[in-house]
Amino acid sequence: MENKEKSFLGILFECCNVYGRIYKNKENTHYEGRCPRCMRHIKVKIGEGGTNQRFFRAR
Ligand SMILES: [Zn+2]
Repeated sequence: MENKEKSFLGILFECCNVYGRIYKNKENTHYEGRCPRCMRHIKVKIGEGGTNQRFFRAR
């Protein structure tokens, strides 16, 4: 089943300067994911301004 709604956030992992995607958690409160290179875990709150941007920077 394919979900056409945007359930992920494109993100720039500044730790490694790579782009990736992080996905909504099941509570729909945050986007969560890991840097594909160093596996650093990141979490971005949904609905706080920045999520309207196509890309988000992980600091
Ligand atoms: Zn990294």
